[in-house]
Amino acid sequence: MQSPPLLISQLLRYGTELHADSEVVTWTGTGSRRMTYAEVGRQAAQLAHALRSLGVEGDDRVATFMWNNAEHLIAYIGVPSMGAVLHAWNLRLFPEQVVYIGNHGAATVVIVDNTLAEPLSALLPHLPNIRHVIVNGHVEEATRAALGAPGHVEGVHDWSTLLEGMPETYEWPEDLDENCASSMCYTSGTTGSPKGVAYSHRSNVLHAMSVAMTLSISAADRHLVVVPLFHANAWGFPYVAMATGASLMMPDRFLQAEPLARFIETERITTGAGVPTVWNDLLQYLDTNPADVSSCRMLLVGGAAAPPAMMRAYQERHGIDIVHGWGMTETSPVGSIAIAPPSAEVGSDEYWRYRTAQGRIVLGVEARLVDGDGREVAWDGSSVGEVEVRGPWIARSYYANGTETATELEEMTAKFDDGWLRTGDVGCLTRDGFLILTDRAKDVIKSGGEWISSVALENAIMGHPDVAEASVVGVPDAKWGERPLASVVLKEGATATPESLREFLGDKMARWQIPERWALIDAVPKTSVGKFDKKVLRKRYADGELDVTTVEIR
Ligand code: ADP
Repeated sequence: MQSPPLLISQLLRYGTELHADSEVVTWTGTGSRRMTYAEVGRQAAQLAHALRSLGVEGDDRVATFMWNNAEHLIAYIGVPSMGAVLHAWNLRLFPEQVVYIGNHGAATVVIVDNTLAEPLSALLPHLPNIRHVIVNGHVEEATRAALGAPGHVEGVHDWSTLLEGMPETYEWPEDLDENCASSMCYTSGTTGSPKGVAYSHRSNVLHAMSVAMTLSISAADRHLVVVPLFHANAWGFPYVAMATGASLMMPDRFLQAEPLARFIETERITTGAGVPTVWNDLLQYLDTNPADVSSCRMLLVGGAAAPPAMMRAYQERHGIDIVHGWGMTETSPVGSIAIAPPSAEVGSDEYWRYRTAQGRIVLGVEARLVDGDGREVAWDGSSVGEVEVRGPWIARSYYANGTETATELEEMTAKFDDGWLRTGDVGCLTRDGFLILTDRAKDVIKSGGEWISSVALENAIMGHPDVAEASVVGVPDAKWGERPLASVVLKEGATATPESLREFLGDKMARWQIPERWALIDAVPKTSVGKFDKKVLRKRYADGELDVTTVEIR
């Protein structure tokens, strides 16, 4: 058989030529801005010419500092297709962290949305590699001047002006090595400082095919990408869209429940992807505000454990399947997706056990469980170990640029075990390959020598009708070493108390697993990508900032 390299440019060509009429729709706050994939292809070519004219060559990195919109999609597929490397900066990180990943990735050009130009201008003096800034949309003269102020910035360009007049086709290089980098992402830093992962053309193409196949995405779909393009490779969706012709629905900066509901209703959106907190907020909104979401068949949820109560509520009240998946920046990210086997009767306990698991390991990914002594653990649905994975879209190392200290390098290599990635996630696997996570290794609670799953506790507490959000962390305890602390956000007007919540858990968890420490809080702190930030909760507890009620065990 022939073996041409698997390249992003093939996806670009396929999507923009064979699915020329599919479209990317960007929400503007009041309506939709539409662009066909044919136009995406033309602008991707123009962008490539423009970047060459700015001196981008070889594997130079081109950064984006953008919301999810049409131009970000164009950069996402155009930059890798020309052979350069796309680095989408996480705009929600603290400024020092953006500077860290920006300098580590060392892009020479950054494309920025006009609405983000001001915050970027404050960072640019600390990003000495940047020579050109391309602004998507109109900015005032003062903002433009601020972007161009640092001595190392040679030019500030307007996207439309720069692309205007450039040829609408590009000879995408066909002799690239499929194993060379096409894009890079940094972990969101939930448990440590961000680490870089470089994806290859090959890994991205294979991953896109697997995601499209497992989720049955087709050209008939209108897919809402809430997951930011800078988070974990955007879960592959820009490439899935090109591979299938599915239209992409981009919310830009309108990520709150109300605009998302209007977007779904207006654009007859069929599918979507985002972290649990986003879909949880949308659920609370839909429960009290009428919106026609009948077009929507499926929302993929991942990045953190999806509360079963939320999954059931969507299905029962809104007819939407919330499909649970698991992955990491290091795994491109999709490693497992929870589609129940046909043998499980819809609505049965067995069915929900499958649906609420993190999912069945997808074709192409191999998994194993390893215990504390390095021994492999059986796939029996109950024996627990650390999850290790390998496969064509699993990282084999982190991206190092020569500036790392010996300790950092050691930390980076420690994540890999003889060709397997140590995920840091702890759980079990069923005989038929469904992954059930109980915790992250760092979040594990060990009480009196026994493990308590923070995820199981969170899921159980979030099953209470008064609870909007709940997060559980381990805190030091004189007698047991560690005990769970539950931080709970109640729904508006709800009256549950720590006592009643404890009572509620009585028949759901073993007695010794039920927390005695409870804090009712206004909101669970979130990471840059919207996950519960347990680091912050632990610190607040340690600093005495949480108002904790202790409910004694009777
Ligand atoms: P960070 O590690 O900084 O949070 P990632 O977004 O790459 O960055 O996070 C990957 C981690 O997110 C996984 O290792 C796992 O702990 C968690 N995760 C992802 N999906 C799920 C899920 N469905 N259930 C529970 N945890 C999940």
